[in-house]
Amino acid sequence: MNSIIAFYIFIIGLCIGSFLNVVILRGLSGENFIISRSKCPKCNNQLKWYMNIPLISYIFLKGKCAFCGEKISVQYPIVEFITGCTFLILYLTFGFTFKTLFMCLFFSLFIAISTTDILETVIIDYHAYILAVLAVIYALFGLNDINTMQAVIGGVLGYIIFEILARIGYFISNFRMFGEGDSLIALGLGAIFGIKNFLITIILSILIQSLCAIPVLIINTYKKRDYRLSVSYILVLFSLFFVFIVNYFEIIKNSMIYLGIVILITMALLWSVKNILSSVKNKKELDFNEAKTHFSLLPFGPAMIISAVVCIFFLKQIKLFIHAFLF
Ligand SMILES: [Zn+2]
Repeated sequence: MNSIIAFYIFIIGLCIGSFLNVVILRGLSGENFIISRSKCPKCNNQLKWYMNIPLISYIFLKGKCAFCGEKISVQYPIVEFITGCTFLILYLTFGFTFKTLFMCLFFSLFIAISTTDILETVIIDYHAYILAVLAVIYALFGLNDINTMQAVIGGVLGYIIFEILARIGYFISNFRMFGEGDSLIALGLGAIFGIKNFLITIILSILIQSLCAIPVLIINTYKKRDYRLSVSYILVLFSLFFVFIVNYFEIIKNSMIYLGIVILITMALLWSVKNILSSVKNKKELDFNEAKTHFSLLPFGPAMIISAVVCIFFLKQIKLFIHAFLF
């Protein structure tokens, strides 16, 4: 019986994935997605119902339009399959509950947000607004560990923190430290996690981002011969490692020496951030609203989403881990 329900939930996931593909593409193109039916973007032929079956149609059509033979983007089956698997995993983890229903909605938005971010480094603002509103409703129903007020405050503070950081980056180097989209994701995630746990997800996303960025950084350093950037990154990582070791083994007991080292590290970090942000020269002075993020780094949005997913399943373990190492 359970496996039958699980199978149906996987199928529902595939169909929602198919719907998400439409939401993603029409979000990017600004079309109204309620009125028009699915068409081939190349030859404009309306698809028959049997060409619209998630996953299966793609396999049978061998990834090509049945009318004109134009290649269908692999985004379609990938999004469908990931959504199907996600729904299945959520059902197996949280059972046949209201919590699962909300989690399916959250994860659908996570998938839409990261896909638009990966495809065009754009986040559609209403995706993030819906996420934030759902998070508040989720807390209102008492399904979350935080109450409604904490969800609202978490969302607002998350957004403000990211906007402040973006402005600091702009102040130092004419680049936003984070994109507008990242602030919007912070709005949604802050409302889901509440401000305390949101900070944990941010630390985790910085770790994920750094790990992914290291290969890109090495390649860029080699190509551009700009070693300042690598030195800055190594300095940041070394500083964090140093703080961690000193705290963990309680090496320095004299508080004045400790304070001195903290000031030195802070200055080194500021210097590094300035270097990292200004390593690509801005041609002219841009207004904050027109300023871009630093594109030689990877987009931060997907790292935030991955971190949120990890935290939804493993927040307790992560907290225990941090507690064991830092205190
Ligand atoms: Zn076609």
